[in-house]
Amino acid sequence: IDKIDTDIFAKRESEVRSYSRGWPTVFDTAKGSWMRGEDGREYLDFFAGAGTLNYGHNNPVFKQALLDYIERDGVTHALDMGTVAKRAFLESIDRNLLEPRGLDYKVMFPGPTGTNAVEAALKLARKVTGRESVVSFTNAFHGMTLGSLSVTGNSMKRNGAGIPLVHATPMPFDNYFGGVAEDFQWFSRVLDDSGSGLNKPAAVIVETVQGEGGINVARPEWLRALSELCAERDILLIVDDVQMGCGRTGQFFSFEAAGITPDIVTLSKSIGGYGLPLALTMFKSELDVWTPGEHNGTFRGNNPAFVTATAALDNYWADDAFEKETLRKGTLVREGLDTIADSYPGVSTRGRGLVQALAFEQAENASQVCAAAFESGLLLETSGPESEVVKLLPPLTTTDDEFRQGLSIIAESVAKVMA
Ligand code: PMP
Repeated sequence: IDKIDTDIFAKRESEVRSYSRGWPTVFDTAKGSWMRGEDGREYLDFFAGAGTLNYGHNNPVFKQALLDYIERDGVTHALDMGTVAKRAFLESIDRNLLEPRGLDYKVMFPGPTGTNAVEAALKLARKVTGRESVVSFTNAFHGMTLGSLSVTGNSMKRNGAGIPLVHATPMPFDNYFGGVAEDFQWFSRVLDDSGSGLNKPAAVIVETVQGEGGINVARPEWLRALSELCAERDILLIVDDVQMGCGRTGQFFSFEAAGITPDIVTLSKSIGGYGLPLALTMFKSELDVWTPGEHNGTFRGNNPAFVTATAALDNYWADDAFEKETLRKGTLVREGLDTIADSYPGVSTRGRGLVQALAFEQAENASQVCAAAFESGLLLETSGPESEVVKLLPPLTTTDDEFRQGLSIIAESVAKVMA
Protein backbone atom coordinates (compact mmCIF):
# COMPACT_ATOMS: atom_id res chain seq x y z
CA ILE A 1 0.00 0.00 0.00
CA ASP A 2 2.81 2.39 0.93
CA LYS A 3 4.43 1.87 -2.41
CA ILE A 4 1.22 2.64 -4.30
CA ASP A 5 0.25 5.54 -2.03
CA THR A 6 3.41 7.44 -2.69
CA ASP A 7 3.49 7.33 -6.45
CA ILE A 8 1.60 8.60 -9.46
CA PHE A 9 -1.24 6.08 -8.99
CA ALA A 10 -2.21 7.61 -5.67
CA LYS A 11 -1.80 11.12 -6.98
CA ARG A 12 -3.89 10.81 -10.12
CA GLU A 13 -5.77 7.53 -10.27
CA SER A 14 -8.98 7.38 -8.30
CA GLU A 15 -9.06 3.60 -8.87
CA VAL A 16 -6.17 3.22 -6.43
CA ARG A 17 -8.75 2.53 -3.75
CA SER A 18 -9.61 -0.86 -5.23
CA TYR A 19 -7.40 -3.52 -6.78
CA SER A 20 -4.08 -1.74 -6.58
CA ARG A 21 -4.68 -1.36 -2.85
CA GLY A 22 -5.15 -5.11 -2.35
CA TRP A 23 -2.21 -5.96 -4.59
CA PRO A 24 0.31 -3.20 -3.97
CA THR A 25 2.72 -3.81 -6.80
CA VAL A 26 3.12 -2.65 -10.37
CA PHE A 27 2.63 -5.49 -12.86
CA ASP A 28 4.57 -5.59 -16.06
CA THR A 29 4.24 -8.81 -18.06
CA ALA A 30 2.06 -11.91 -17.87
CA LYS A 31 1.98 -15.37 -19.40
CA GLY A 32 -0.35 -18.31 -18.88
CA SER A 33 -1.35 -18.32 -15.20
CA TRP A 34 1.46 -16.00 -14.10
CA MET A 35 1.85 -12.26 -13.72
CA ARG A 36 5.21 -10.61 -13.19
CA GLY A 37 5.78 -7.42 -11.23
CA GLU A 38 8.21 -4.82 -12.52
CA ASP A 39 10.41 -5.81 -9.55
CA GLY A 40 10.69 -9.27 -11.12
CA ARG A 41 8.43 -11.08 -8.63
CA GLU A 42 6.18 -13.75 -10.11
CA TYR A 43 2.56 -14.16 -9.00
CA LEU A 44 0.34 -17.14 -9.67
CA ASP A 45 -2.91 -15.61 -10.88
CA PHE A 46 -6.14 -17.16 -9.53
CA PHE A 47 -8.09 -14.03 -10.45
CA ALA A 48 -7.61 -14.05 -14.24
CA GLY A 49 -8.64 -10.46 -14.87
CA ALA A 50 -11.94 -11.03 -13.02
CA GLY A 51 -12.68 -13.89 -15.40
CA THR A 52 -11.57 -12.26 -18.66
CA LEU A 53 -8.61 -14.63 -19.06
CA ASN A 54 -10.12 -18.11 -19.04
CA TYR A 55 -7.46 -19.18 -21.57
CA GLY A 56 -4.55 -17.58 -19.69
CA HIS A 57 -2.47 -14.45 -20.18
CA ASN A 58 -1.03 -13.91 -23.66
CA ASN A 59 -2.30 -17.25 -24.92
CA PRO A 60 0.24 -18.06 -27.68
CA VAL A 61 -2.38 -19.21 -30.22
CA PHE A 62 -4.45 -16.04 -29.86
CA LYS A 63 -1.32 -13.90 -29.87
CA GLN A 64 -0.21 -15.38 -33.20
CA ALA A 65 -3.70 -14.92 -34.70
CA LEU A 66 -3.64 -11.29 -33.61
CA LEU A 67 -0.09 -10.69 -34.91
CA ASP A 68 -1.05 -12.20 -38.30
CA TYR A 69 -4.13 -9.99 -38.47
CA ILE A 70 -2.16 -6.85 -37.63
CA GLU A 71 0.58 -7.85 -40.10
CA ARG A 72 -1.93 -7.96 -42.97
CA ASP A 73 -3.50 -4.64 -41.96
CA GLY A 74 -6.79 -6.24 -40.97
CA VAL A 75 -9.54 -3.72 -40.17
CA THR A 76 -9.19 -2.58 -36.55
CA HIS A 77 -12.41 -0.65 -36.19
CA ALA A 78 -15.52 -0.52 -38.32
CA LEU A 79 -18.48 0.13 -36.00
CA ASP A 80 -21.02 -2.53 -37.01
CA MET A 81 -19.91 -2.84 -40.63
CA GLY A 82 -19.42 -6.30 -42.05
CA THR A 83 -15.79 -7.37 -41.84
CA VAL A 84 -13.91 -10.55 -42.56
CA ALA A 85 -13.06 -10.83 -38.84
CA LYS A 86 -16.68 -10.45 -37.77
CA ARG A 87 -17.90 -12.98 -40.34
CA ALA A 88 -15.33 -15.52 -39.19
CA PHE A 89 -16.43 -15.02 -35.58
CA LEU A 90 -20.13 -15.42 -36.40
CA GLU A 91 -19.34 -18.58 -38.38
CA SER A 92 -17.31 -19.88 -35.46
CA ILE A 93 -20.14 -19.22 -32.97
CA ASP A 94 -22.51 -21.06 -35.27
CA ARG A 95 -20.22 -24.03 -35.82
CA ASN A 96 -18.79 -24.42 -32.31
CA LEU A 97 -21.54 -23.18 -30.00
CA LEU A 98 -25.01 -22.87 -31.45
CA GLU A 99 -25.42 -25.72 -33.96
CA PRO A 100 -24.02 -28.49 -31.71
CA ARG A 101 -26.35 -27.36 -28.90
CA GLY A 102 -29.39 -26.83 -31.15
CA LEU A 103 -29.62 -23.19 -30.05
CA ASP A 104 -31.35 -20.74 -32.39
CA TYR A 105 -29.93 -17.47 -31.09
CA LYS A 106 -29.30 -14.23 -32.89
CA VAL A 107 -26.22 -12.33 -31.80
CA MET A 108 -25.82 -8.61 -31.27
CA PHE A 109 -22.75 -6.65 -30.28
CA PRO A 110 -24.13 -4.18 -27.75
CA GLY A 111 -20.89 -2.36 -26.86
CA PRO A 112 -17.53 -3.26 -25.40
CA THR A 113 -18.30 -4.58 -21.91
CA GLY A 114 -20.52 -6.80 -19.80
CA THR A 115 -22.76 -4.02 -18.64
CA ASN A 116 -23.50 -3.10 -22.27
CA ALA A 117 -24.69 -6.67 -22.87
CA VAL A 118 -26.98 -6.45 -19.83
CA GLU A 119 -28.39 -3.06 -20.84
CA ALA A 120 -29.25 -4.39 -24.29
CA ALA A 121 -30.87 -7.49 -22.74
CA LEU A 122 -33.05 -5.40 -20.40
CA LYS A 123 -34.00 -3.00 -23.18
CA LEU A 124 -34.88 -5.82 -25.57
CA ALA A 125 -37.00 -7.61 -22.95
CA ARG A 126 -38.92 -4.41 -22.26
CA LYS A 127 -39.46 -3.72 -25.95
CA VAL A 128 -40.58 -7.28 -26.76
CA THR A 129 -43.03 -7.57 -23.85
CA GLY A 130 -44.14 -3.95 -23.59
CA ARG A 131 -43.62 -4.31 -19.82
CA GLU A 132 -41.24 -2.28 -17.68
CA SER A 133 -40.08 -4.02 -14.58
CA VAL A 134 -37.47 -6.72 -14.16
CA VAL A 135 -37.02 -9.27 -11.38
CA SER A 136 -33.50 -9.89 -10.18
CA PHE A 137 -32.08 -11.69 -7.16
CA THR A 138 -30.58 -10.95 -3.79
CA ASN A 139 -26.79 -10.60 -4.12
CA ALA A 140 -26.95 -10.35 -7.93
CA PHE A 141 -24.32 -8.39 -9.83
CA HIS A 142 -25.04 -7.25 -13.37
CA GLY A 143 -22.94 -4.12 -13.92
CA MET A 144 -22.40 -0.51 -13.04
CA THR A 145 -24.44 1.48 -15.58
CA LEU A 146 -27.81 2.65 -14.33
CA GLY A 147 -29.97 -0.12 -15.87
CA SER A 148 -27.69 -2.97 -14.88
CA LEU A 149 -27.08 -1.32 -11.50
CA SER A 150 -30.85 -1.30 -10.92
CA VAL A 151 -30.88 -5.10 -11.09
CA THR A 152 -27.74 -5.43 -8.94
CA GLY A 153 -28.45 -6.53 -5.38
CA ASN A 154 -25.66 -4.76 -3.54
CA SER A 155 -26.64 -1.66 -1.63
CA MET A 156 -23.07 -0.36 -1.32
CA LYS A 157 -22.79 -0.28 -5.10
CA ARG A 158 -26.31 1.12 -5.64
CA ASN A 159 -26.81 3.66 -2.90
CA GLY A 160 -24.78 6.55 -4.23
CA ALA A 161 -26.52 6.36 -7.58
CA GLY A 162 -29.98 7.54 -6.56
CA ILE A 163 -33.22 6.29 -8.07
CA PRO A 164 -32.82 3.10 -10.11
CA LEU A 165 -33.47 3.53 -13.83
CA VAL A 166 -35.21 0.20 -14.25
CA HIS A 167 -37.99 -0.76 -11.87
CA ALA A 168 -36.45 -3.85 -10.37
CA THR A 169 -37.89 -6.26 -7.82
CA PRO A 170 -35.47 -8.32 -5.76
CA MET A 171 -36.40 -11.96 -5.19
CA PRO A 172 -34.54 -14.43 -2.97
CA PHE A 173 -31.77 -16.34 -4.72
CA ASP A 174 -31.57 -20.12 -4.32
CA ASN A 175 -31.16 -21.24 -0.69
CA TYR A 176 -32.38 -17.95 0.78
CA PHE A 177 -35.31 -19.79 2.34
CA GLY A 178 -34.02 -23.31 1.90
CA GLY A 179 -35.94 -25.57 -0.44
CA VAL A 180 -36.73 -24.98 -4.09
CA ALA A 181 -40.44 -25.56 -3.50
CA GLU A 182 -40.64 -22.90 -0.76
CA ASP A 183 -38.86 -20.31 -2.93
CA PHE A 184 -41.12 -20.82 -5.90
CA GLN A 185 -44.36 -21.11 -3.96
CA TRP A 186 -43.65 -17.66 -2.62
CA PHE A 187 -42.38 -16.28 -5.92
CA SER A 188 -45.37 -17.44 -7.96
CA ARG A 189 -47.79 -16.25 -5.29
CA VAL A 190 -46.29 -12.76 -5.39
CA LEU A 191 -46.44 -12.76 -9.19
CA ASP A 192 -50.05 -13.93 -9.35
CA ASP A 193 -51.46 -11.95 -6.41
CA SER A 194 -53.05 -8.73 -7.64
CA GLY A 195 -52.66 -7.40 -4.11
CA SER A 196 -48.90 -7.98 -3.96
CA GLY A 197 -48.05 -4.67 -5.58
CA LEU A 198 -45.84 -6.32 -8.17
CA ASN A 199 -46.41 -5.45 -11.82
CA LYS A 200 -45.94 -8.35 -14.18
CA PRO A 201 -42.26 -8.12 -15.10
CA ALA A 202 -40.79 -8.10 -18.59
CA ALA A 203 -38.02 -10.42 -17.54
CA VAL A 204 -36.16 -12.22 -14.81
CA ILE A 205 -32.38 -11.84 -14.88
CA VAL A 206 -30.21 -14.41 -13.13
CA GLU A 207 -26.63 -15.64 -12.77
CA THR A 208 -26.45 -19.43 -12.44
CA VAL A 209 -23.54 -18.90 -10.04
CA GLN A 210 -23.36 -15.46 -8.48
CA GLY A 211 -19.77 -14.35 -8.96
CA GLU A 212 -19.53 -11.00 -7.21
CA GLY A 213 -22.34 -12.00 -4.81
CA GLY A 214 -20.21 -14.66 -3.12
CA ILE A 215 -20.05 -17.74 -5.40
CA ASN A 216 -23.63 -18.68 -4.65
CA VAL A 217 -24.47 -21.70 -6.78
CA ALA A 218 -28.06 -22.10 -7.97
CA ARG A 219 -29.12 -25.72 -7.96
CA PRO A 220 -30.12 -27.14 -11.36
CA GLU A 221 -33.62 -27.88 -10.05
CA TRP A 222 -33.97 -24.26 -8.87
CA LEU A 223 -32.96 -23.01 -12.33
CA ARG A 224 -35.40 -25.40 -13.99
CA ALA A 225 -38.22 -24.26 -11.72
CA LEU A 226 -37.35 -20.64 -12.51
CA SER A 227 -37.28 -21.35 -16.24
CA GLU A 228 -40.67 -23.12 -16.06
CA LEU A 229 -42.21 -20.31 -14.03
CA CYS A 230 -41.04 -17.75 -16.62
CA ALA A 231 -42.27 -19.84 -19.57
CA GLU A 232 -45.69 -20.42 -17.96
CA ARG A 233 -46.19 -16.70 -17.35
CA ASP A 234 -44.70 -15.38 -20.58
CA ILE A 235 -41.84 -13.67 -18.72
CA LEU A 236 -38.47 -13.62 -20.51
CA LEU A 237 -35.57 -15.38 -18.81
CA ILE A 238 -32.21 -13.64 -19.10
CA VAL A 239 -29.13 -15.60 -18.01
CA ASP A 240 -26.23 -13.25 -17.35
CA ASP A 241 -23.25 -15.38 -18.35
CA VAL A 242 -20.77 -12.50 -18.38
CA GLN A 243 -18.69 -14.12 -15.63
CA MET A 244 -19.83 -17.75 -15.58
CA GLY A 245 -19.92 -18.28 -19.35
CA CYS A 246 -17.05 -19.25 -21.67
CA GLY A 247 -16.46 -22.52 -19.86
CA ARG A 248 -15.97 -21.26 -16.31
CA THR A 249 -18.38 -23.84 -14.86
CA GLY A 250 -17.35 -26.60 -17.30
CA GLN A 251 -19.79 -26.32 -20.19
CA PHE A 252 -19.42 -23.26 -22.44
CA PHE A 253 -22.73 -21.80 -21.22
CA SER A 254 -23.30 -22.06 -17.49
CA PHE A 255 -27.00 -22.88 -17.95
CA GLU A 256 -26.36 -26.03 -20.02
CA ALA A 257 -25.91 -28.28 -17.00
CA ALA A 258 -29.43 -27.41 -15.80
CA GLY A 259 -30.90 -28.25 -19.22
CA ILE A 260 -32.58 -24.88 -19.63
CA THR A 261 -32.63 -22.55 -22.65
CA PRO A 262 -32.85 -18.89 -21.63
CA ASP A 263 -34.58 -16.41 -23.92
CA ILE A 264 -31.66 -14.00 -23.70
CA VAL A 265 -28.01 -14.62 -22.78
CA THR A 266 -25.27 -12.08 -22.06
CA LEU A 267 -21.58 -12.82 -22.59
CA SER A 268 -18.44 -10.72 -22.16
CA LYS A 269 -15.20 -11.07 -20.14
CA SER A 270 -13.54 -14.20 -21.67
CA ILE A 271 -15.45 -14.16 -24.97
CA GLY A 272 -12.73 -11.94 -26.49
CA GLY A 273 -10.20 -14.56 -25.40
CA TYR A 274 -7.19 -12.33 -25.03
CA GLY A 275 -8.54 -9.84 -22.53
CA LEU A 276 -9.77 -7.60 -25.34
CA PRO A 277 -13.16 -5.98 -24.72
CA LEU A 278 -16.05 -7.71 -26.44
CA ALA A 279 -19.65 -8.27 -25.39
CA LEU A 280 -22.52 -10.23 -26.87
CA THR A 281 -26.23 -10.26 -26.24
CA MET A 282 -27.75 -13.43 -27.66
CA PHE A 283 -31.48 -13.90 -27.96
CA LYS A 284 -33.98 -16.29 -29.47
CA SER A 285 -34.54 -15.40 -33.13
CA GLU A 286 -38.22 -14.59 -32.60
CA LEU A 287 -37.24 -11.80 -30.18
CA ASP A 288 -35.40 -9.87 -32.89
CA VAL A 289 -37.58 -6.76 -32.87
CA TRP A 290 -34.81 -4.18 -33.17
CA THR A 291 -35.28 -1.58 -35.87
CA PRO A 292 -32.14 -0.33 -37.67
CA GLY A 293 -30.15 2.06 -35.51
CA GLU A 294 -32.34 1.48 -32.46
CA HIS A 295 -29.46 0.29 -30.36
CA ASN A 296 -26.01 1.47 -31.30
CA GLY A 297 -22.64 2.47 -29.87
CA THR A 298 -19.28 3.30 -31.39
CA PHE A 299 -17.28 0.36 -30.07
CA ARG A 300 -19.69 -2.39 -31.04
CA GLY A 301 -17.38 -4.11 -33.45
CA ASN A 302 -14.00 -4.78 -31.88
CA ASN A 303 -12.29 -6.51 -34.80
CA PRO A 304 -9.04 -7.51 -33.05
CA ALA A 305 -11.28 -9.07 -30.36
CA PHE A 306 -13.23 -10.93 -33.06
CA VAL A 307 -9.93 -12.43 -34.20
CA THR A 308 -8.90 -13.67 -30.75
CA ALA A 309 -12.48 -14.71 -29.93
CA THR A 310 -12.58 -16.86 -33.06
CA ALA A 311 -9.24 -18.41 -32.16
CA ALA A 312 -10.63 -19.21 -28.69
CA LEU A 313 -13.77 -20.91 -29.97
CA ASP A 314 -11.96 -22.83 -32.72
CA ASN A 315 -9.18 -24.01 -30.43
CA TYR A 316 -11.07 -24.83 -27.26
CA TRP A 317 -14.68 -25.49 -28.20
CA ALA A 318 -14.63 -27.59 -31.38
CA ASP A 319 -15.16 -30.66 -29.15
CA ASP A 320 -15.81 -31.40 -25.47
CA ALA A 321 -12.20 -32.07 -24.38
CA PHE A 322 -11.73 -28.67 -22.73
CA GLU A 323 -15.04 -28.99 -20.88
CA LYS A 324 -13.99 -32.38 -19.49
CA GLU A 325 -10.59 -31.04 -18.42
CA THR A 326 -12.19 -28.05 -16.69
CA LEU A 327 -14.55 -30.32 -14.75
CA ARG A 328 -11.67 -32.63 -13.79
CA LYS A 329 -9.52 -29.71 -12.60
CA GLY A 330 -12.54 -28.26 -10.80
CA THR A 331 -12.80 -31.47 -8.77
CA LEU A 332 -9.08 -31.37 -7.99
CA VAL A 333 -9.34 -27.78 -6.72
CA ARG A 334 -12.51 -28.47 -4.76
CA GLU A 335 -10.98 -31.49 -3.02
CA GLY A 336 -7.97 -29.36 -2.06
CA LEU A 337 -10.20 -26.64 -0.65
CA ASP A 338 -12.41 -29.18 1.18
CA THR A 339 -9.31 -30.56 2.92
CA ILE A 340 -8.37 -27.04 4.05
CA ALA A 341 -11.91 -26.16 5.19
CA ASP A 342 -12.28 -29.43 7.12
CA SER A 343 -9.43 -28.38 9.44
CA TYR A 344 -11.10 -25.20 10.72
CA PRO A 345 -14.47 -24.36 12.23
CA GLY A 346 -16.34 -21.59 10.42
CA VAL A 347 -14.74 -22.27 7.04
CA SER A 348 -16.70 -23.88 4.20
CA THR A 349 -16.40 -24.44 0.45
CA ARG A 350 -18.65 -23.89 -2.52
CA GLY A 351 -18.45 -23.57 -6.29
CA ARG A 352 -18.90 -25.26 -9.66
CA GLY A 353 -16.31 -26.20 -12.25
CA LEU A 354 -13.37 -23.80 -11.98
CA VAL A 355 -15.10 -21.16 -9.91
CA GLN A 356 -14.52 -22.30 -6.36
CA ALA A 357 -14.53 -20.55 -3.01
CA LEU A 358 -13.68 -20.68 0.67
CA ALA A 359 -16.30 -18.93 2.77
CA PHE A 360 -15.43 -17.57 6.22
CA GLU A 361 -17.86 -17.05 9.10
CA GLN A 362 -15.56 -14.24 10.26
CA ALA A 363 -15.70 -12.03 7.17
CA GLU A 364 -12.36 -10.27 7.79
CA ASN A 365 -10.52 -13.61 7.61
CA ALA A 366 -11.18 -13.72 3.86
CA SER A 367 -9.24 -10.53 3.09
CA GLN A 368 -6.53 -11.57 5.55
CA VAL A 369 -6.11 -14.83 3.61
CA CYS A 370 -5.91 -12.90 0.31
CA ALA A 371 -3.27 -10.56 1.79
CA ALA A 372 -1.21 -13.50 3.11
CA ALA A 373 -1.51 -15.27 -0.26
CA PHE A 374 -0.27 -12.14 -2.04
CA GLU A 375 2.80 -12.13 0.19
CA SER A 376 3.45 -15.73 -0.90
CA GLY A 377 2.95 -14.93 -4.59
CA LEU A 378 -0.70 -15.86 -5.23
CA LEU A 379 -3.40 -13.46 -6.48
CA LEU A 380 -6.79 -14.12 -4.91
CA GLU A 381 -9.82 -11.86 -4.64
CA THR A 382 -12.68 -11.74 -2.16
CA SER A 383 -16.38 -11.61 -3.01
CA GLY A 384 -19.75 -11.63 -1.27
CA PRO A 385 -21.73 -8.85 0.43
CA GLU A 386 -19.32 -8.70 3.38
CA SER A 387 -16.26 -9.74 1.31
CA GLU A 388 -16.43 -12.92 3.35
CA VAL A 389 -15.54 -15.28 0.54
CA VAL A 390 -12.15 -16.05 -1.00
CA LYS A 391 -12.89 -16.59 -4.64
CA LEU A 392 -10.80 -18.73 -7.00
CA LEU A 393 -11.23 -17.75 -10.64
CA PRO A 394 -8.05 -19.17 -12.22
CA PRO A 395 -7.39 -19.42 -15.94
CA LEU A 396 -8.97 -22.70 -17.08
CA THR A 397 -5.63 -23.53 -18.71
CA THR A 398 -3.86 -23.64 -15.30
CA THR A 399 -1.94 -26.93 -14.97
CA ASP A 400 -2.41 -29.48 -12.19
CA ASP A 401 1.01 -28.57 -10.80
CA GLU A 402 0.11 -24.89 -10.69
CA PHE A 403 -3.15 -25.73 -8.94
CA ARG A 404 -1.24 -27.77 -6.33
CA GLN A 405 1.16 -24.87 -5.86
CA GLY A 406 -1.73 -22.42 -5.42
CA LEU A 407 -3.60 -24.74 -3.04
CA SER A 408 -0.54 -25.12 -0.86
CA ILE A 409 -0.19 -21.31 -0.62
CA ILE A 410 -3.89 -21.12 0.30
CA ALA A 411 -3.44 -23.80 2.97
CA GLU A 412 -0.47 -21.91 4.46
CA SER A 413 -2.32 -18.59 4.30
CA VAL A 414 -5.43 -19.96 5.99
CA ALA A 415 -3.23 -21.59 8.67
CA LYS A 416 -1.52 -18.23 9.35
CA VAL A 417 -4.83 -16.34 9.59
CA MET A 418 -6.66 -18.94 11.69
CA ALA A 419 -3.70 -19.58 14.03
N1 PMP B 1 -22.60 -9.35 -15.17
C1 PMP B 1 -21.87 -10.14 -14.38
C2 PMP B 1 -22.41 -11.44 -13.94
C3 PMP B 1 -20.59 -9.72 -13.97
O1 PMP B 1 -19.86 -10.50 -13.16
C4 PMP B 1 -20.10 -8.48 -14.43
C5 PMP B 1 -18.71 -7.98 -14.05
N2 PMP B 1 -18.14 -8.47 -12.91
C6 PMP B 1 -20.92 -7.70 -15.25
C7 PMP B 1 -22.15 -8.17 -15.61
C8 PMP B 1 -20.46 -6.36 -15.76
O2 PMP B 1 -19.46 -6.50 -16.68
P1 PMP B 1 -18.48 -5.27 -16.98
O3 PMP B 1 -17.71 -5.01 -15.73
O4 PMP B 1 -17.61 -5.75 -18.11
O5 PMP B 1 -19.33 -4.13 -17.39
